[in-house]
Amino acid sequence: MSVYHLRSIFSSLQGEGRNSGRPATFVRFATCNLNCKWCDAHKSERLALTVTEVMKEVEKRNNRSVVITGGEPTIQHGLTDLVRALKGSGYWVALETNGVNRPHHPELFDYISVSPKSEYSARYSDERMLHQANEVRIVAVTDEISAFCRNMRERITATDYYISPLEQDGKIHYRRALNLLVKLNKLTPGITPPWSLSIQMHKVLGIR
Ligand code: SF4
Repeated sequence: MSVYHLRSIFSSLQGEGRNSGRPATFVRFATCNLNCKWCDAHKSERLALTVTEVMKEVEKRNNRSVVITGGEPTIQHGLTDLVRALKGSGYWVALETNGVNRPHHPELFDYISVSPKSEYSARYSDERMLHQANEVRIVAVTDEISAFCRNMRERITATDYYISPLEQDGKIHYRRALNLLVKLNKLTPGITPPWSLSIQMHKVLGIR
């Protein structure tokens, strides 16, 4: 039986992208296959739970939507077992991933949000990466990553494409995200859909 390594399970509102404001239970996995310098995924309050234990925690929180997030969920052994259990209990299930690895059964998810990381562009190989998602969200680490954004857009088919501000050391870099967004839409005028801005609503509101 798989044991999952988690940071936490908690109830909140989806803070980013098309589903902003949706109440959900977040199943937040520990560790990642990347190591972005602003991220705390490798520092852990770790839990080790089986499918049954995760399901109990999810049920307690009484939301009908579950967001599988991280860290990086696709590196967790036996992720499909958990997703099947959630779907079998009638939950709407979303995946948040950096997209380096395709999950084993992407069709099981109701929604996939992929956030490719520009600092690790060499890790995105056509053989392994996720090529299809509902939304793509790229963090504006600098406003000089337009080539990376355009490359990811060519390689990942999605309904929406977002730029998100970077949060580092307690500061959210909105201007940088805005500069990148304007640059991308100017580079490809008339692109449909245009690149949009995804503000991390939960950070603005000061909720988890
Ligand atoms: S890909 Fe995401 S979870 Fe992984 S280190 Fe980067 S920001 Fe953190």
